[in-house]
Amino acid sequence: MSNDFRFYNSLTRKVDEFVPNEEGKVSMYTCGPTVYHYAHIGNIRTYIMQDVLVKALEYAGYNVKRVMNITDVGHLSSDADTGEDKMLAGAKREHKSVMEIARFYTDAFFKDFDAVGNKKPDVIEPATNCIPEFIHMVEVLLEKGYAYQAGGNIYFDTSKLDDYYVFSSAIEKEALQIGVRDDVEEDSNKKNKTDFVLWFTKSKFEDQALKWESPWGVGYPGWHIECSCISMKHLGERLDIHCGGVDNIFPHHTNEIAQSESYLGHKWCNYWFHSNHLNDRAGKMSKSKGAVLTVSVLKEKGYDPLVYRFFCLQSHYRKPLEFSFDVLDSNVGTYNKLVKRVSELKADGAVDENVKKEFEDKFREAISDDLNTSMAITILYDALKADTNDATKLALVESFDKVLSLDLIGHAKSLLEGGADIDPELLEYINEQIQKRAEAKKAKDFATADAIRNELLERGVEIKDTREGVKWQLV
Ligand SMILES: [Zn+2]
Repeated sequence: MSNDFRFYNSLTRKVDEFVPNEEGKVSMYTCGPTVYHYAHIGNIRTYIMQDVLVKALEYAGYNVKRVMNITDVGHLSSDADTGEDKMLAGAKREHKSVMEIARFYTDAFFKDFDAVGNKKPDVIEPATNCIPEFIHMVEVLLEKGYAYQAGGNIYFDTSKLDDYYVFSSAIEKEALQIGVRDDVEEDSNKKNKTDFVLWFTKSKFEDQALKWESPWGVGYPGWHIECSCISMKHLGERLDIHCGGVDNIFPHHTNEIAQSESYLGHKWCNYWFHSNHLNDRAGKMSKSKGAVLTVSVLKEKGYDPLVYRFFCLQSHYRKPLEFSFDVLDSNVGTYNKLVKRVSELKADGAVDENVKKEFEDKFREAISDDLNTSMAITILYDALKADTNDATKLALVESFDKVLSLDLIGHAKSLLEGGADIDPELLEYINEQIQKRAEAKKAKDFATADAIRNELLERGVEIKDTREGVKWQLV
């Protein structure tokens, strides 16, 4: 096992060497989606980089157990407990029940999550499964004097902590204390501006759909308590790595630490991994700006979701990344060339184990160094150019793809075979349709051409226009 795995820890504000609580094992928690709407490609970037972290740790020899929650209750439109309930807003928008909305957007999320080559977490837990655990934690916090009841709700009392702003430098803390949330609607029940709700019984959401009995009356949990409880339920009292987007640092992760460590009476999580935003030309990508750009939308437009992953991997997770279709288009070309290059490798001869090890070491070093994914891709290109036989190169592509998950060998195979083991009737149909589409395009009848493309996609056949002509693959 490699003992030089390191990455940026938001808690210490530097790149730390990773030392797990238990040798060889990693417990990891990921804040999951709030399933009131689609996850946009910026959200998916965060999950891609977390997937790389899991696979890089596994490549370095660790055994990773990862848990993710699904927020299906309690998340208000402002992370600081004000605004509308997101699930309720989603249900109203679409004239469906909250549970229907949750089911629909959970499925949509995992469709996109899987399409970009992510491995599913070992445990996926909806918040509504864990109400007794939330109530228990709130009871203990009340007993220990870290929480109080006001106006029917239970709040966490942040003034009980010596250091609430754990992620901030001394200067940032000062600025936060002066300026904290002056801009948001004030909840007069709160003793301190930074206090947050653990359990709601009284709120302006009279028509809140999901409510449960509790010692404090019928109500529902606050958002932050979910992650602390679900993490402890499956990963115990000492967590190695907690992941999220930079947006989660304050207040969500700050509040998670406040309540978890007050509840436990000791340190909870050692490493905090945060990835940065995806921007488009207008700024940070968000759901509030009209149509949501999702991985499924990219797919409908004819892009392979793994090309989006390839695009993400070429930039460092801690830097904001700018998305545009121009850049994605150029990635299509680069990715296809890479697949073509792999398809030309002939698996003859024996793998040169020395060369293989030399490159694997370099690759491991790159991804173990704060997830240097662009360097890892450079090493892949170096391996393809190396003075060694094709069998060794193929073995390296296969090895690196355990982390990169670009399905290079799979795509290379389908490029070569052109669907050799496919049902002959379907093959005939596909060829016919491609022919018809070419004729429609020639006649500038783009509506028909698009309709044919979509119909094929519905039957699981994705077609692409490339410089070498129309290519297709089963999806
Ligand atoms: Zn969370």
